[in-house]
Amino acid sequence: MAVQKDINYAISFGDPRIVNGLSVHSKAFDDTYFYDGDDLGCDYTANRAFFRLWAPTASQATLLIYDTWDGASVVEVAMKRGEKGTWTAILYRDLKGYFYTYKVQIAEQWHEAVDPYARAVGVNGDRGAIIDMSETNPQGWNDERVPFSAPVDAVIYEVHVRDLTAHSYSGAEHRGKFLGAAEMGTRGPNLVRTGLEHIKELGITHIQFLPIYDYSTDSVDETNPDASYNWGYDPKNYNAPEGSYATDPYTPATRIKELKTLIQTIHEQEMRVIMDVVYNHVYDAYRHSFMKLVPGYYYRYRQDGSLSNGSGCGNDVASERKMVRKFIVESVVYWASEYKLDGFRFDLMGLHDIETMNEIRTRLDEIDPSIIMLGEGWDIPTELDGRYKATQHNAWQMPRIAHFNDGLRDTLKGSTFNLREPGFASGRSGLEHDVKRGIVAGVQYQEHLRSYAHEPDQCVNYVEAHDNHTLWDKLSLTSAHLDEMTRRKIHMLCSAIVLTSQGIPFLHAGQEFMRTKHGDENSYKSPTHINQMDWQRCAQFSREVNFIRRLIQLRKNHAAFRMRKASLIREHLVFEQAPANSVAFTLRNHANGDVAKDLYVLHNANWHPIEVQLPHFGLWRIEFGEEFIEQDDLILHGTLKVLPYGSIVLLNRGD
Ligand code: CA
Repeated sequence: MAVQKDINYAISFGDPRIVNGLSVHSKAFDDTYFYDGDDLGCDYTANRAFFRLWAPTASQATLLIYDTWDGASVVEVAMKRGEKGTWTAILYRDLKGYFYTYKVQIAEQWHEAVDPYARAVGVNGDRGAIIDMSETNPQGWNDERVPFSAPVDAVIYEVHVRDLTAHSYSGAEHRGKFLGAAEMGTRGPNLVRTGLEHIKELGITHIQFLPIYDYSTDSVDETNPDASYNWGYDPKNYNAPEGSYATDPYTPATRIKELKTLIQTIHEQEMRVIMDVVYNHVYDAYRHSFMKLVPGYYYRYRQDGSLSNGSGCGNDVASERKMVRKFIVESVVYWASEYKLDGFRFDLMGLHDIETMNEIRTRLDEIDPSIIMLGEGWDIPTELDGRYKATQHNAWQMPRIAHFNDGLRDTLKGSTFNLREPGFASGRSGLEHDVKRGIVAGVQYQEHLRSYAHEPDQCVNYVEAHDNHTLWDKLSLTSAHLDEMTRRKIHMLCSAIVLTSQGIPFLHAGQEFMRTKHGDENSYKSPTHINQMDWQRCAQFSREVNFIRRLIQLRKNHAAFRMRKASLIREHLVFEQAPANSVAFTLRNHANGDVAKDLYVLHNANWHPIEVQLPHFGLWRIEFGEEFIEQDDLILHGTLKVLPYGSIVLLNRGD
């Protein structure tokens, strides 16, 4: 994420963070008020509705019931003090279709807040909604998950709901909506497959959506969604879907049902869904329910009393506090079970604490161990000791949680922060060693060839994502002196390295057709026309799209690219002699049960052809990249000439 904020409404609280002489940040507070029940929020049945709120520093609490999303309250119910700082209310009538909020008195002030546990909300998420969740299930909704075994078998594709079908040529009926992303059979220019149909054709296994929880009204106003665009890294209601992706944001059940329909459709296409979750900060610390209900508790503070701001969004959520951890863990578990999500991508995961991440892993394993976890393990300054942060550096303490490998990303295309610096693929010398670190998924391969990962399923290899310039736009900066055809080749070389490396490969939507945002480096609130997937361009770059599809098929055909243990990588992957600015390796002896006895892979980042000596294992056949080899003969041995920016894979059957 990368979001800037210009609004900061401070509310004067006196010093509500000290209650009865106890700081809400103290361990004693956590020990005294940790509530371990599972009934926070609203529990609805047709006969009654039960509410439990955690607000230990409040002196009074009231439940407000509304009959519309914007009307005056119809009833105010004083809540009863319960155990561990909780407050309860129960109403014996059918409240389906009503809305609710809480009001708490902190010191002398009353604050009205949405229930942070609300699972359904009205338009723009300003009130919780009381609904019957069983009525949100689309037809055919069941408990079956698409079978999946190892994270390294995944090919992740990151896309924004609106981007996928917003384009006027997307061929979708519900453009920019959950239902649009669920449309199959759509066609664009030259009858190119679009939307979900396009993703399926590529061979993707996991679709990762940018935020789909309810995000800020300042970012996108659900009553007028087309007036603005946002990625959505602005959390408002963590447990309810965003309304601007629904065909009707006013009816609370609609967004839930339509998101479930999208997930179900993707499952029917034998793909899986990863949710991008942003628990590290909220959109506006002071306006969020967290601050209104228990002032100060949910955030980290500096010594001087100001909010910690590693997120760059004005606040850092204090995941290490017991009720915050509980909130995050239960939220993830809720999405995984209610929506049958297959993976979670943690924004700025390095701001979270290790214990929280491991607890999420444990709880997800109870649902289905094939649910994958990945995140941005960046080491960011926040008010939490580095020993406890869920960073790349501490990856060894978080088995089966993957981190984005920014090392390979910047090695291939050049630094994200130094715009004109080229990388391995775009002509910078001396980076072979760093490319190898990515090829082995960042595990300890040799003493001096290692990165942060302990096992390959902790490494997400990629070259572009929603943040920063797209690879195409970066190449426009680093390689403007090269003609477009050459830049296309460099682009494809980067993707080929990602998809033939160990670990978990990750593609940014449109990378297959050399997506451009026309030089927009941070398009988080840029207009739809900058962000949307351009299906005309997809048709125009059909050769390149096909290149990616073939690479994914290659990866699926060969288990050797998907070794599940670092020990297997050390045993079966051998780097071979290759000229400068190229990297070659073999995957030997039926690695990971591969059908091939050996595979030989070479990536040539030179602007000129190179000659290599093939390992003398017998006869090699071309498995991938025949367009990069000037040879009519299909059987290869001895020396081989590989064209500029070529990636080739050869196969030795061992017969
Ligand atoms: Ca919203």
